[in-house]
Amino acid sequence: MAKCTYCKCQISDGRALEVCDRCGVAVWGPKMFKAIQGNMNEAQAKGDLDQGGNGRD
Ligand SMILES: [Zn+2]
Repeated sequence: MAKCTYCKCQISDGRALEVCDRCGVAVWGPKMFKAIQGNMNEAQAKGDLDQGGNGRD
């Protein structure tokens, strides 16, 4: 299970960015954090396709 880079809390969902919502918003602000997450998840989804998928989601 992933852990937040900042507060080390556990992140239950399989997000690409290992930062929890609370820290992400604190560091980047809600709008920027959402945009960053969107970009990361998109990149990860593409990578998973290239590798034939690894069971995420
Ligand atoms: Zn955190």
